[in-house]
Amino acid sequence: MALLVTKFGGTSVASLERIKNVALRLKDMKEKGNDVVAVVSAMGDTTDELIDLAKLTGDNLAPREMDMLLSTGEQQSAALLALTLQNMNCDAISLTGWQAGIKSDDKHSKAKISEINTERLRAELAKGRIVIVAGFQGISPCGDITTLGRGGSDTTAVAIAAALKADRCLIFTDVDGVYTADPRIVPEARKLSQISYEEMLEMASLGAGVLQSRSVEFAMLYGVDVEVLSSFNFNPGTLVTEVKNMEKQRVVCGVADDRNCARFALFDVPDVPGIAMKIFKALAKENINVDMVIQSAMRDNRNDIAFTIERDDLKRAVPVVQKVVKEISASGFSYADDVAKVSIVGAGMQTNPGVAADMFEALAEENINIHMISTSEIKVSCVIDEKELEKAVRVLHKKFELDKIE
Ligand code: ASP
Ligand code: MG
Repeated sequence: MALLVTKFGGTSVASLERIKNVALRLKDMKEKGNDVVAVVSAMGDTTDELIDLAKLTGDNLAPREMDMLLSTGEQQSAALLALTLQNMNCDAISLTGWQAGIKSDDKHSKAKISEINTERLRAELAKGRIVIVAGFQGISPCGDITTLGRGGSDTTAVAIAAALKADRCLIFTDVDGVYTADPRIVPEARKLSQISYEEMLEMASLGAGVLQSRSVEFAMLYGVDVEVLSSFNFNPGTLVTEVKNMEKQRVVCGVADDRNCARFALFDVPDVPGIAMKIFKALAKENINVDMVIQSAMRDNRNDIAFTIERDDLKRAVPVVQKVVKEISASGFSYADDVAKVSIVGAGMQTNPGVAADMFEALAEENINIHMISTSEIKVSCVIDEKELEKAVRVLHKKFELDKIE
């Protein structure tokens, strides 16, 4: 008997028929003698539809009220799943985030879980119930509903798994694991049977949208074994875990593509201390994440500074940058949203020189221009024109022979 924390994404609960399918799986796990918690996302595109609805009220969308609204999506699917189970004569109860003891900070729309009080969860499990938890939500110190960022139900699940010391966290989604590249772009992409936390973290934050990156950070921090698998078939999934011996062999394990990318350039920025601080503090204050940053070599005591942010944040970032440009007396700025990011990831890169060079060579051979580059120990990312993205993913997949990976 094991304690299993499962999570079902939006497509897995998109209709009553699919919810019934999820209920049957949960019932089966329970009947095999496991304790079962199920975290659910909102049905299908509910979250997007609620956002569109809110936009009809006007331009000012206060994050507190948006959280109030968006959290209802997960409550619907949680209650419907509990009802479905009950109607199958299977004891179940649905809980909101706060009923499940999920406490967060007060950063509305991007809140972070600070603590989970597991008392209620344990009490319901002890009654022999399947416990359904509305994902993606928590409660702030002052008692307001928060949401955990898009895709946040993954983090709810991993955090609950950590808090309950569950045997495993099973993330059911619409793909049956983590692939070497998006199979819609690269038909020869291979499913990985295992991936290390570090590699998965890079893949997740680089836009391989299988798991929310926060959830992987959580899993790594608390050593939670996470399995990604499909709710539509019974194929084995991908285990995200601590991998000790594999890393030296696999130089590159995946190519990630990310269109949620926009690029700014600030021209003739004075080369004095404190300037970068001014720019990035102003963006941080607006909760805008900066990804890559490049400062050009100095000439005439001036630099150019370029950086990327998430495309979704572009509209909010423009006035912020405009204001800073004036304050620091730069000569001007530009921005573009027709760029995208392609990245290669692999733990073995650390010990294999020349991987970045191979990547640049593959892109050059296809005449793909690189705008920006950033590297970490286990990844290399390039910002390129969005229209070249799919071609770039395909040539890199081929270059690193990922169609042959085990
Ligand atoms: N429903 C939320 C979203 O669409 C959270 C989630 O699916 O995990 O982002
Ligand atoms: Mg979702």
